[in-house]
This record gives sequence, structure tokens and C-alpha cells, in this order.
Amino acid sequence: MKAPLLNVKDLTVTYRVSNGFIRALRGVSFRVYEREFVAVVGESGSGKSTLGLTIIGLLPNNAIVNGGEVIYKGVNLLSLDRRVREKFMGSEIGMIFQNPMNSLRPTEKVSKQFVDTLKVAEARGSLKLEAYDYSKPWGVSGRFSALIDRVLGVSKRTGGGLTAHDDKYRLEALKWLKLVRIPDPESVLEKYPFQLSGGMMQRIMIAMALSLRPSLLIADEPTTALDVITQAQVLKLMRGLIDEVGASILLITHDMGVAAQVADRVLVLYAGELVEEAPVHELFKNPMHPYTIGLLNSIPRGHKSTNRLSAIRGFVPDLRSEIRGCVFADRCDYATEVCRINKPSYIKVNEDHVVRCFLYGK
Ligand code: ATP
Ligand code: SF4
Repeated sequence: MKAPLLNVKDLTVTYRVSNGFIRALRGVSFRVYEREFVAVVGESGSGKSTLGLTIIGLLPNNAIVNGGEVIYKGVNLLSLDRRVREKFMGSEIGMIFQNPMNSLRPTEKVSKQFVDTLKVAEARGSLKLEAYDYSKPWGVSGRFSALIDRVLGVSKRTGGGLTAHDDKYRLEALKWLKLVRIPDPESVLEKYPFQLSGGMMQRIMIAMALSLRPSLLIADEPTTALDVITQAQVLKLMRGLIDEVGASILLITHDMGVAAQVADRVLVLYAGELVEEAPVHELFKNPMHPYTIGLLNSIPRGHKSTNRLSAIRGFVPDLRSEIRGCVFADRCDYATEVCRINKPSYIKVNEDHVVRCFLYGK
């Protein structure tokens, strides 16, 4: 069987807060394979962002990794020295966040931010850009610019003032902007973030993250701030990029409908525990965990539907306390005394489908 790109084992993370400890992740294990699109789904507070931040190594100072392993390409990232680990950031594992406006510097043009990103990666030694003929400035006529025009399909009208040295970064930026289907990428490079729509900025963030050639891209609610049509476009784009650039994607979302549109496999996270895992079609056809069923029932199913959306009653439990039995017991219509006292084990429904609930097995 193929080795996973990412193998997370029994990951436990807490946050130190003034009145105790929040147990955000409680023994989470899963795998992501090459060129796979995996969605982590759960409502607010289930630990999704903590999971992404732990994998990439960007947890805040009050976070404590109590145990577990994050094995990436055979290396346990949690055992690495901080400086060594930072080399994986961006170049091996990239991350994009919900609001691109927070990630882009508002006072700098896209071109400067993109070029800086590439330069830093090259200076770190994690990126080596193709050698172009740097003796010719951007915009000159001749074989070089004709080649650029042919390969990139861009005109020579902008950027005449750039140094020859910056040309290679600019060309690289243009290449990636084209790949994420940005119309007129040359003019977009010369814009400030506030001059662009949310969807355009998110595409730019995706382009910047992918330009560092990561094998794994973590996308934390990348489409939540976008309107429905733009959301669908960005999701389609991300799905297509898996084949074009050969990266795997770990998508973090609270929306099962989003996962349905793009994911190969879905992990359902609740109160810091994985409660169900299955290929997307299997999960929609045969959801087993009462929490998964609740999430699926809360998806809007088209304008013709007369059914009212059903919300899951109650709230995520207080994560400061130890949860003795099943994490979902307080909200589950099927909970019994056994559920409140004992933790259910993971039951293998079939090769790819796993559920953690006393309703199954035996
Ligand atoms: P959301 O979609 O709202 O971001 P989430 O599923 O991503 O939710 P996390 O953000 O990982 O969940 O949070 C998990 C738990 O950890 C929550 O109870 C949250 O309040 C807590 N938490 C997250 N970050 C911190 C922090 N820096 N300090 C203290 N507690 C935190
Ligand atoms: Fe509900 Fe019990 Fe299953 Fe938990 S173990 S989801 S409480 S039936």
C-alpha cells in the first residue's frame, strides 16, 4: 500500500487559558495521500483550525502539544527543531486562510508582495527559479520577450521600470496568476489589495501559496467570506489544481455542502475528536454517526425544497473539562447510560469508512 504524504497520529493539543486548559484536540489520527483532497468538517469550536495550525507549525504561544505525531513524508514534524521546521513552512506545506485581506499587506501592490514571497523562498533555498535571460529587461523586443508572450500569452506593455533581476520573479508571479485563472494578470499585479474583489484576492493567495511548490496545501475556510458563485468558482479551481500542480489539499470547513463539492474524503471532527471518516460519496450515501447525520440535515438542498433545515440541538461541550464518555452524548437523541460513561471505539464499517459510536459494531 502507498505511504501517506501526511500521517497524523493520536494528536492532542491544549490551550492554556486564565481559568484552566482547553482541550482542543483529543487524540486525532488520520492520513492524507498524494494528490488527495481531504475535507475536515465540523462546527465552530471543534478544533479544525487548531489541527491546521499544528500541522504547519503556527500554533500560538499558549498552545501545548501534549502528544502525538505529525509525520510528513516520513518525518515527524513535531520532533524537529523550530528552525528546521520553519523550512517546511510554505515550501513543503502551505496554508491559506479565510480572509485574504488579512494575509495581504494593504499598502503594497500585489507585484511587490508576490515577488517578496518568491525571493524569501529562494533565499531560504527552498525554491529555485528557472534561469531566464536576465540581461534583457522586461519589455524589450527580441527572442526572450517573444517567448514570454508565447508561453504566458501576456503582452509587453507593463513593468518597463523593473530591474532585470526582478523580471524572473515577476514572470513567475504571472505564471501562477494565470494558473489560478486571473484575467489580465499583468494589470492585477499592479493593483493594491483594496482594489480587488474577495474572490480575486483569494485566488492570489492560492497562487502565492502554490508558487512555493508545496506538496500539501492547508486551506482554512478559504471560501467562507465569498459569495456563493465566487465560492463555487474558487472551489472548482482548487479541485482542478490538484491535477495541474500535483499537490494534496486539506480543506477545513464548517460546511458539509462545501466538502461535497470538492473532497475525495471527509473527516468529521467534533469537540476535538474524529467521529467519522469516509470517502465523500459513501459519507453522503451512508452517514452513520448521529453528528454527521445532523450536519448533513443542516445543508440547504436547493430552492425547491420545502423541508425546513434542522439544526443540531445544544452546543459543543465545555472543552475545559475532561469528557468521560462519548463527546456527542449531551446532544445525541440515541444516547444511553453506556454512552455517558464509556468512550466508543472506532468501528471499521468497510475499508475506507470508520465511525466512533456505540450504535455500531458487535
Ligand atoms: P472556528 O471555526 O470557530 O475557528 P474551529 O473548529 O476551527 O472553530 P478552533 O479554532 O481550533 O476550532 O478552536 C478549538 C477550541 O480551542 C475552541 O474552544 C477555541 O475557543 C479554543 N481556542 C482556539 N484558539 C485558542 C487560543 N489561542 N487560546 C485559547 N483557546 C483557543
Ligand atoms: Fe450518540 Fe452514543 Fe453514538 Fe455517542 S456513542 S453518538 S451518544 S449513540
